[in-house]
Amino acid sequence: MRYFLTLFFCTLLTSCHQSSQSIAISSKKNFHSDTTTRPKNIILVIGDGTGLSQISSLEFYKNGQVHYERFPVIGLSKVSSTSRITDSGAAATALACGEKTFNRAIGVDSLGQSIPNIIEFAHTKNMATGVIATSSITHATPASFYAHDESRYHHEMIAKALTQSEVTYFAGSGLQYFNQRSDQNNLLDTLVKKGYTLDTTSLSSYPDAQKLGYLIGATELPKISESRGDFLVQASSLGLRLLEQSDNGFFLMTEGSQVDWGGHDNDFNYMVAELIDLDDTIGTLLDYAIADQETLLIVTGDHATGGLVLAAKDGDYNVIEPKFSTGNHTGDWIPVFAYGPGAQNFAGVYENTEIYHKMIHLLGTEEATEN
Ligand code: MG
Ligand code: ZN
Repeated sequence: MRYFLTLFFCTLLTSCHQSSQSIAISSKKNFHSDTTTRPKNIILVIGDGTGLSQISSLEFYKNGQVHYERFPVIGLSKVSSTSRITDSGAAATALACGEKTFNRAIGVDSLGQSIPNIIEFAHTKNMATGVIATSSITHATPASFYAHDESRYHHEMIAKALTQSEVTYFAGSGLQYFNQRSDQNNLLDTLVKKGYTLDTTSLSSYPDAQKLGYLIGATELPKISESRGDFLVQASSLGLRLLEQSDNGFFLMTEGSQVDWGGHDNDFNYMVAELIDLDDTIGTLLDYAIADQETLLIVTGDHATGGLVLAAKDGDYNVIEPKFSTGNHTGDWIPVFAYGPGAQNFAGVYENTEIYHKMIHLLGTEEATEN
């Protein structure tokens, strides 16, 4: 009986999906109902500290289109690390490497052993790869996609790992971990010897670069409300321009790093300004995926931060008063949005590690099957 009920609900859900999809993206291929189509490229967007209450605030505080609303497929991921509440190191390791680990870990398992990440996997398939963050490029989230270290705080070790990785494109901050190091090495020279074009002052265009890195600022990038401008949109567009030249496809991770920092500060204006920047970037990437039709775009968060609620101010249901309940991370399930070939695999409720396994499966050589 349970089987038939399940079947019945699946049928219902499928027909609902199809009708909303046909309105949203009428002339495009119905990726959402097809679990076997494979993408050539995958873009993974991570909003650090971005849970459902953060995303919901865009409805009330963003003027103009909310791009999160444009996705046909939505799932939920469970983000605990080996602790109940994850940090950004363990959460990014789950997404990059597919294993639950301890907080602070970067690309290592719960025993501290290095585990392969999706960028290493993509490199074995001769795909181009990229990482972008609005923080230091050595910060926990981007680091988990190219480094292996027991501590996210080993910025100089993580910077060295970037020079030893096969990342084609990177953009973020953290210059001092490359050229003001305690071991006196200048890793910018190392990167140039490895064939990178580097820019440490601006997001200039280098159409002939084979490998490209932007390291803007000594440690962290400024807030969007200060002087960062449209760094995330521009860095993402520049990355696409380089990576799409690969005949074998690409994997790109783009992070909106500072939504989390606004949450830790319980600073709603900071948080929402970072979210709007992230949402604008998502719009650019979704437009790319819709035009390209071979790119799977997955948008998620690593965890929520701040315990945000959109409360009715003093019981007045016409006025929202955002309130934070903690300065730390929370254990909320985190939405996953997907568009493109293979997107339907991201519907449902699953552990965050499954996002890695689903991506690897879609990029792998075996036949894609429904899961
Ligand atoms: Mg982060
Ligand atoms: Zn955090």
